[in-house]
Amino acid sequence: MSDPEKNKRLFGTNGIRGIPNEELTPEFCLLVGKAIGTFFNGKIVVGSDNRLSGDMIINAVNSGILSTGSETVMIGVLPTPGIQYYCKKHNLPGVMITASHNPPQFNGIKCIDSDGTELERSKEEKIEGIYYSNKYRTARWDSIGRSILDNSGFDLYLNGIMNMIDVKKIRERKFRVAVDTGNGAAYLTTPELLSRLGATAVTLNANPDGLFTSRESEPKPANLKYLIDLVKSGGFDFGIAHDGDADRAVFIDSSGNFIDGDKTLTLFVKHYIRKGERVVTPISSSDALEEVCSKAGANVVRTRVGAPIVSRTMIQEKARLGGEENGGIIYGDHQYCRDGAMSLGIVMDILSKEKKNLKELIESLPQFFITRKTIPARSDFSILSEMLKKEYPGWEVSTMDGIKLRNGNDWILARPSGTEPIIRLFTHSQKRERSEELSSKVEQLVMSV
Ligand code: MG
Repeated sequence: MSDPEKNKRLFGTNGIRGIPNEELTPEFCLLVGKAIGTFFNGKIVVGSDNRLSGDMIINAVNSGILSTGSETVMIGVLPTPGIQYYCKKHNLPGVMITASHNPPQFNGIKCIDSDGTELERSKEEKIEGIYYSNKYRTARWDSIGRSILDNSGFDLYLNGIMNMIDVKKIRERKFRVAVDTGNGAAYLTTPELLSRLGATAVTLNANPDGLFTSRESEPKPANLKYLIDLVKSGGFDFGIAHDGDADRAVFIDSSGNFIDGDKTLTLFVKHYIRKGERVVTPISSSDALEEVCSKAGANVVRTRVGAPIVSRTMIQEKARLGGEENGGIIYGDHQYCRDGAMSLGIVMDILSKEKKNLKELIESLPQFFITRKTIPARSDFSILSEMLKKEYPGWEVSTMDGIKLRNGNDWILARPSGTEPIIRLFTHSQKRERSEELSSKVEQLVMSV
């Protein structure tokens, strides 16, 4: 988003992102709103997370939309999946003002289609076309759009989740849960969902704070020290943490172990998959999914990395389950987008039917280890690709996304970032030491260039 005029592209992999009053000026947001209103030409849902610049951006985008004659339904602060669910249930397109897990200085604009999914690229291109050609619709004074407020999204969202799970059984278990909403958009929804499910919830960072004072928004182990300590202190069935817009959820078992998102997905698949079904996941998640699926007579469909790609593929493949290793899980019976609170509901649904606790259930899955690292990109990515092929001759090569080399259950995935000069490195093996060894070796190779 740093220089849209040069790139002729507004939307990145997760909408428009930037710093308010630098890239995301009110003037720019107004024009984006005009392009969105011109494109959808009808009623549009508008919601946001709780970032400090939300009001400024919403007002500018809303004003732009209304000027085209389109109308808006303002549904307030909700997790991104709450807004997507509202769009799906009302069959309306939407705009979400959020920067997901990015640092507090960022914000963003993301479009949602009327089925609740992230807007597909071809439609984003049409909005970009309107923006770059200045071909906005301008309504006459007597047909300028109106804005209405609707606060029903909160209950609609929670009821939608509760309809997908065995609420009676879950209530009987009287779960004790530690929840860290990270000062983000789930500060009301997730504690309230836990309460409606009969759980005792101890909350951390459940005050909305657009500065994200207590922890960084990305739900990774380094940022969840307090939650891990709290869960370890005893008496909890598990802990859960979200990113800023709560489309993701990660879990901590009762001993304080952080559970990788692809392990949670594998657990869901093991319990919910039916024979002949397909599970969709990017090439960055573990081989455990193939093992669990093959036992159940199901298949895994691998995609490039990115939640919108996973959800689109799920729709094409008619898959009910999909997700990523970062804690973004998609349950198609509910909606085709990542949903952190739905993941929580599913974990509680599984635990209410099992005698084992979360730690034991995760340990009963096929065990693989992934080491994740971000390393500086010191040369052209094709040079690294060639070096890796030379270093690991005979390993099966895939270039679906970056480069992936595989030898049995050992694999290396290196992906260049689209926005920064860095490489995201994933190494996978049955043994932790082996995945760490592969990771260090590739890092040394990159640094030697
Ligand atoms: Mg997010």
